[in-house]
Amino acid sequence: MVPMIDLKKQFAGIKDEVLDVVIEILESAHYILGPKVSEFEKKVAAYHNVAEAIGVASGTDALHLAVKALGIGEGDEVITTPFTFFATAESVLYTGARPVFADIDPETLNIDPVQIEAKITKKTKAIIPVHIFGHPADMDAIMAIARKHRLHVIEDCAQSFGADIRGKKTGSFGEAGCFSFYPSKNLGAFGDGGMVTLHDAGLGDRIRVLRNHGSRGAYKHESVGFNSRLDELQAGILLVKFRKIDAFNSRRRENAALYNACLSDRVLSPAERQGMTHVYHQYTIRSLKRDQIKSRLSDAGISSVVYYPVPLHLQEALGFLGHKKGDFPVAEEAAEKVLSLPMYPELEEKTIREIAEIINNV
Ligand SMILES: *Cc1c(COP(=O)(O)O)cnc(C)c1O
Repeated sequence: MVPMIDLKKQFAGIKDEVLDVVIEILESAHYILGPKVSEFEKKVAAYHNVAEAIGVASGTDALHLAVKALGIGEGDEVITTPFTFFATAESVLYTGARPVFADIDPETLNIDPVQIEAKITKKTKAIIPVHIFGHPADMDAIMAIARKHRLHVIEDCAQSFGADIRGKKTGSFGEAGCFSFYPSKNLGAFGDGGMVTLHDAGLGDRIRVLRNHGSRGAYKHESVGFNSRLDELQAGILLVKFRKIDAFNSRRRENAALYNACLSDRVLSPAERQGMTHVYHQYTIRSLKRDQIKSRLSDAGISSVVYYPVPLHLQEALGFLGHKKGDFPVAEEAAEKVLSLPMYPELEEKTIREIAEIINNV
């Protein structure tokens, strides 16, 4: 079976380095908020050209703590995309605020700045753009809207580690960039993990306190916080993979270019906007024959996944928001046509050619 991402192959390539760091950490007996977490935070901050990066327990927590630390809560509205993973909206709901959806751009599948402006009310406090599938959202337009209406911007970078706009990394545009190290992400741990990148020392201080039970240590608690720390073992493993992230992303881009070249014009290949670097967390095609393509691939032993079959406004859990079919037609159409194909640095040229041929034959 050709998997969506081959983590076994990836591990085989880094096994010795990973085992060395794991043994070093186990022998150090420093398992929570130790030197590996600090080192990883510093390296990720430098990579993004931001003041600080803070390790937390997951991408979901990165979003939640960022929203909360910006003072957003009950009675507030946060504008985001309906075409994303559920956690983007959950993070807003955890704080008591309301997610307000704005439809997406039909080309990039990212939130459409024009639709954002139409959704701004007196209650709007923030925008959460998601760099979906690894393609940067239109941050120039989004930051301009945010400045004009004095809104916070929290970037959901769970799928975009390493992506950039004219050399400026996603996660460095807004007040906070929220990353996930879930194993299948471009930079994945061997368990859960997340990180917030940010510019403002005050915001950083609030997030550091929130991730650790509202405490600066010594059993003094200035607020009610959370247990949300990136653990030392994951940070140590992530440091090994971080050294290779640019090479991994380049391989993804080469694989995407080959898919683009091999696939017929009858399927829609992913867009890449001028000046933007897509890191292909997913390589996602669109076709009216999506289900047929999926089943032919499956017959040939090739995985493919529909990310995402149900846009957030039509999710059962969010029924209380009162949306109906037709509210966000671009997101709904995408949900009917998208199909993500196997994509990982170790994916071989002959496999890509074989996958493209099966799709072209449909
Ligand atoms: C994976 C993901 C998250 C959540 O990250 P976790 O680490 O799994 O909590 C949030 N947003 C998007 C867009 C994601 O893909």
